[in-house]
Amino acid sequence: MIVQVVVDAPLPAALEYAVPAGADGAGLIGRCCVVPLGRRRVSGLIVGTAAQGSVNAARLRGVERVVDEMAPLGAHWLQLTRFAAEYYQHAWGEVAVPALPPALRAPPGPRFGAVLQRMRAATLTQGVAPLPAPVLNDEQQAAVAAIDAAEGFVPHLLHGVTGSGKTEVYLEAAARRLARDARAQVLLLVPEINLTPQLESRLRARFPQLPVAVLHSGLAAGERSAQWLAAHEGRARLVLGTRLAVFASLPHLALVVVDEEHDASFKASDGPRCSARDLAVKRAQLAGVPVVLGSATPAIETWAHAQRGKYRLLTLGHRAGGGRAADVQVRMVDTRSDKPEQGLTASVRSALVNTLAAGGQSLVFINRRGYAPVLACESCGWLSQCSRCSTYAAFHKGDGSLRCHHCGWQVRVPSACPTCGNVDLRAVGQGTQRIEETLGTLLPGARIARLDRDSTRRKDAARDALEAMHAGAVDVLVGTQMIAKGHDFQRVSLVVVLNADAQLVAADFRAPERLFATLLQVAGRAGRAGHASRVLVQTRYPAHPLLQALARADYAGFAHQQLAERQAARLPPFVHQALLTAEARAMAPALALLSAAQEAGAAGRGVRLYDAVPMPLERLAGLYRAQLLVEAPRRADLQAFLSDWLPAVAMLARARRPQVRWQIEVDPQQI
Ligand code: ADP
Ligand code: ZN
Ligand code: ZN
Repeated sequence: MIVQVVVDAPLPAALEYAVPAGADGAGLIGRCCVVPLGRRRVSGLIVGTAAQGSVNAARLRGVERVVDEMAPLGAHWLQLTRFAAEYYQHAWGEVAVPALPPALRAPPGPRFGAVLQRMRAATLTQGVAPLPAPVLNDEQQAAVAAIDAAEGFVPHLLHGVTGSGKTEVYLEAAARRLARDARAQVLLLVPEINLTPQLESRLRARFPQLPVAVLHSGLAAGERSAQWLAAHEGRARLVLGTRLAVFASLPHLALVVVDEEHDASFKASDGPRCSARDLAVKRAQLAGVPVVLGSATPAIETWAHAQRGKYRLLTLGHRAGGGRAADVQVRMVDTRSDKPEQGLTASVRSALVNTLAAGGQSLVFINRRGYAPVLACESCGWLSQCSRCSTYAAFHKGDGSLRCHHCGWQVRVPSACPTCGNVDLRAVGQGTQRIEETLGTLLPGARIARLDRDSTRRKDAARDALEAMHAGAVDVLVGTQMIAKGHDFQRVSLVVVLNADAQLVAADFRAPERLFATLLQVAGRAGRAGHASRVLVQTRYPAHPLLQALARADYAGFAHQQLAERQAARLPPFVHQALLTAEARAMAPALALLSAAQEAGAAGRGVRLYDAVPMPLERLAGLYRAQLLVEAPRRADLQAFLSDWLPAVAMLARARRPQVRWQIEVDPQQI
């Protein structure tokens, strides 16, 4: 008998290996194994068996070891990974094997049984002080009832502003599913765990008796394997995780929840570019269970599904714990008449001063870290260009460095202009550090904190800053997007948005969607405990429809307008896209590969191939990058085209000198 084995390599089909005669074929499928591959030994997964191989039996190699100390992966899990591989145009093993925990990705040795025992002994943390659930309001109850009543696969979109009580709905819906069946498991996906410690503790406090497994890339290998095993063996009843957790093995899955479903971090940025959000829906379909996607600002694609009735729309229209949305007043500050000085307009300055005087907290949002985005010489025009990217290196004053935020390149700040020797270099524009400095001068005595990727390098730094904010030990918090995510600040009565304009005019058709989501989320930080509060947005375009929709907190209006624009321009979700990218040491070979690929695909049915062009950031970390967009009105046409075309692209790439690396991304999020 032979087994079909998938391994983590870009192979067109499963590999065949011999197994000892008399092995139980049915019991082998889904088992991890160790197989020889060339001169290496690698981890593999048995996905099929057959009486006879397709190659000469004499040339067949044997499976080295079948991991039978652990239950096999289930049929749904195999279907899910296979679907993901086909959809995102990779080999099955390239999805399935990396989805296994670290302990199984490296070939398990002879002592694996003992390793498993140790992993099983690792206790899953459980809640201590139980927290009673609040009495749900009518909208929450209706949402829970709908999810609870769902039989089999039913996708839901839970749309509700920040603070409307979506999390309470997830928890109650989970509680009901878990109560029905003593083995039932619930999967809860979140964009980032480090920034949502409150959710984890709420979960544990709400289900003190239930073992919770947590899965994210920040865990040490042993810990992650132990958590994975607890889910696989059904000991964990709740699994909370980031995008990688969509591939957790959950034999008794009863409900899937995706919080902040619009968040870009659900899409993988390398390897098979899977969308954990989309796969969560597929997974629920395969398992025949309900799925809940929750957001204050759903992805436009998700909203379109809900509008067409493909997803059931559940709405929470009001804030749950006091503090109604109506208490928040959003106002545009026109920077054409109220000119910013050091990044802050007079209106913003006086609002900050008044808020401090009244004992309130302020949030200042600026989506740029560092001191200034660029350093310039005014005498010769030199700019602090990254030496490896087609972009500028930002000035970081604290440690006197120039740093590229794209590739990590870093040098000491020159004491004089490298071109003309002028010692008077000027920081151009604003970053979080500079705003922090300006606020220090404007508000002497105020307690000012900063939250961005630089301030949170130290482990727990983000948590500490947020706790200080909660405890009222901070008057003004300056930060990037990080200040927007999932925090429930009780005393914030002023939110300031500094440089939204760059994204208002960006070329990417998804930029408005991302900007609207961020701004609504930032604005949602104000007035949570019922204080009257204000949001001030500095902009040159106060009449822009996006900002007007923001001022009305009108997601539906915004989404309607976006969908109309996309329909007129034939953009997703009205067409389906894939992006072929190429990178090389020079631009010409990258473009040449894509042009050859375009020619090879010219005969495509119902599929349109655009011309190869340099990517918006055309040089990154020393490599030149180009892209080719593929588009089709029907998804099936796109899928069929890609699976025929990509092997040809691979052949073209192999034949090329100098070397060009290529990648395919289905449903690209950034173009
Ligand atoms: P979301 O997930 O939509 O941001 P949460 O579920 O976190 O909203 O709820 C926001 C706040 O309101 C939390 O502090 C929560 O405990 C509280 N809350 C939610 N539902 C209710 C309710 N029905 N009654 C009282 N407080 C509630
Ligand atoms: Zn100069
Ligand atoms: Zn760079």
